[in-house]
Amino acid sequence: MKKSSLKIVGVMAFAMVVILFMQSYPNSKTNEKENKTMKSALIVVDVQNDFCPGGTLAVPKGDEVVPIINDLMETTLKSQIDLVVFSRDYHPADCDHFKKWPPHCIQNTKGAGFHAGLRFPKGSVVISKGMDIHDDAYSAFEGCTDAGVSLEEGLKDSKIERLFVVGLATDYCVRSTVLDALSKGFEVVVVIDACRAVNLSAGDGPNAIMEMLDAGASIVHISALN
Ligand SMILES: [Zn+2]
Repeated sequence: MKKSSLKIVGVMAFAMVVILFMQSYPNSKTNEKENKTMKSALIVVDVQNDFCPGGTLAVPKGDEVVPIINDLMETTLKSQIDLVVFSRDYHPADCDHFKKWPPHCIQNTKGAGFHAGLRFPKGSVVISKGMDIHDDAYSAFEGCTDAGVSLEEGLKDSKIERLFVVGLATDYCVRSTVLDALSKGFEVVVVIDACRAVNLSAGDGPNAIMEMLDAGASIVHISALN
């Protein structure tokens, strides 16, 4: 075989391994027991009007995640999740964060509202972040409930050990939330079909995926969860 053909075969073999790995989660035998006993939460990151088309900091095709997330909550992950958490950017009108970004998700404005198509299961929790004038708060772990309970505290009180993470944007708030979750000892599964990237620089989205994988997250397609 020519060297170039070998190279192509090698790349194809690698792709197959990646596909098999992605499809084996979470139904592989080794994970079966763990999956039944481990309590899980779905973390829906920042699916807000300003991050969707028409918003002041729109993520391309950001609204496409809405029906996918509804499906995850109500069907695909229904039997596996014990809690659903929605994070939101919730900035004061005047803050340092707006020196880096166009103003977005300002408290008590329509832009800060959740996308109208998103459904909220009974008992779900909202985490607000970025409320301090000096905070970027990309990670949902920097936020808290209206009652002042931090995300980590709430999850640990509920004995949650595994997080399914989805939302906007892959290369900012999803990425930061996932890296924080891993550093705090949670098992993390990113459902990549239910995330969209900003891609300010080409490759930001794929690079964020590699970074989350390297840090220990599982990256799966929704088809692997059925
Ligand atoms: Zn923000």
